[in-house]
Amino acid sequence: MDFSLSVEEREIRDWVRTFVQKELVPLEQEVLRRERAHQPGLTGDELRELQLKAKESGFWGVQTPEEYGGMGLSATMTALLEAELGRTYVPFRFGGAADNILFHANEEQKQRYLLPTIEGTRTSCFAITEPGAGSDAKAIRTTARKDGSDWIINGEKTFITGGNEADFTMVFAITDPEKGANGGVTCFLVDRDMGWRSEYIDTMGEWGPASLIFDNVRVPESQILGELGQGFTLAMQWIGRGRYLLPARAIGSCERLVSMAIEHANTRETFGAPIADRQAIQWMIADSGVEIEALRWLVLHAAWQVDQGMDSRHAQSMAKLFGGQKANEIVDRVLQIHGGMGYTRELPVERWYRELRLLRIYEGTDEIQRRTIARNLLKGHAKVGGALG
Ligand SMILES: Cc1cc2nc3c(=O)[nH]c(=O)nc-3n(C[C@H](O)[C@H](O)[C@H](O)COP(=O)(O)OP(=O)(O)OC[C@H]3O[C@@H](n4cnc5c(N)ncnc54)[C@H](O)[C@@H]3O)c2cc1C
Repeated sequence: MDFSLSVEEREIRDWVRTFVQKELVPLEQEVLRRERAHQPGLTGDELRELQLKAKESGFWGVQTPEEYGGMGLSATMTALLEAELGRTYVPFRFGGAADNILFHANEEQKQRYLLPTIEGTRTSCFAITEPGAGSDAKAIRTTARKDGSDWIINGEKTFITGGNEADFTMVFAITDPEKGANGGVTCFLVDRDMGWRSEYIDTMGEWGPASLIFDNVRVPESQILGELGQGFTLAMQWIGRGRYLLPARAIGSCERLVSMAIEHANTRETFGAPIADRQAIQWMIADSGVEIEALRWLVLHAAWQVDQGMDSRHAQSMAKLFGGQKANEIVDRVLQIHGGMGYTRELPVERWYRELRLLRIYEGTDEIQRRTIARNLLKGHAKVGGALG
């Protein structure tokens, strides 16, 4: 068993680490300042400029297949990169990416949706959640009714990431109420100018998702993505595309946070000694160090299963659950170690505290991950003892 990185993995990882240090960390104070003024941390142009800078060194379309101009990196490598990006709260992501389900587009749709999305000239959003259907996605009520050769979409989606900015959405609607999620849900590609509108939702984070409102939005048959009635399978494919990537990013955030806590503990003195001398503080540092390490291996193991073409759902749920829980415990400890300063907006700790809270909710809540894990264990789909057991 070899836990070391290959030379190539180390080189790629180190390049991203340097990029984060040289290009992103220097922007942190300005990002915080803008966010405190209720502005986006980075403008679209600034993000694009950073993405093009990374592209000069070949970092473009990290998981996009090489035939589409991407790097086609493995899941393991992508998890390592995400962890590096998580070390800063500057809201950066590499360019050249597209939602995995857009690769199901037909040739004509690829020209109109997939390629411009990879290029960065169009932006998408994924819309399944509704006011009455979140964890229970099969309960969606948005409908698409056939009218001649068109479909007419009615309903409301909610909490849609990027829904305020997107040019088009991949929206899921019931096309056959009898069948419902078992062959009666279809995914439509719908441009904003076809008639849907979005409303901003304010959250405790630095950005907000949107509600999307479909009021008799008429779209031609050619807007169906994939097969009629096969939308639910596509939706599950989108959600399952990389559950390991969310906790992967949290690894980097926790590493950075604990480094801040260590520095503060070593320099802050109370009662004539650094607080680092106190066992209460030491235990918080120790537990956090152990948990970050455990999270790293859960994430990398899930990613490794993806690369092996194994059914990785159980491993991904475990990584997502543990990541959400532990990242939140760790940022809470780091805030505690910083005392009153941790609670202020002068430091980014409270920002991370709010951001990491989302990890326990989106793309499957803690409870839904537990439900999956328990069901797999109780029904014998997965073994206690894991893949090596
Ligand atoms: C910032 C943000 C961005 C998002 N982005 C998107 C997006 O881009 N596209 C999209 O479609 N959706 C998106 N979502 C929606 C997100 O996936 C849902 O919020 C999430 O799945 C939970 O659904 P819900 O909010 O309806 O909660 P509910 O499903 O109503 O759950 C409420 C509570 O009950 C618990 N619960 C539910 N069922 C069970 C059960 N069987 N057993 C035990 N406990 C249960 C849940 O875990 C939760 O604690 C986003 C949400 C947020 C907050």
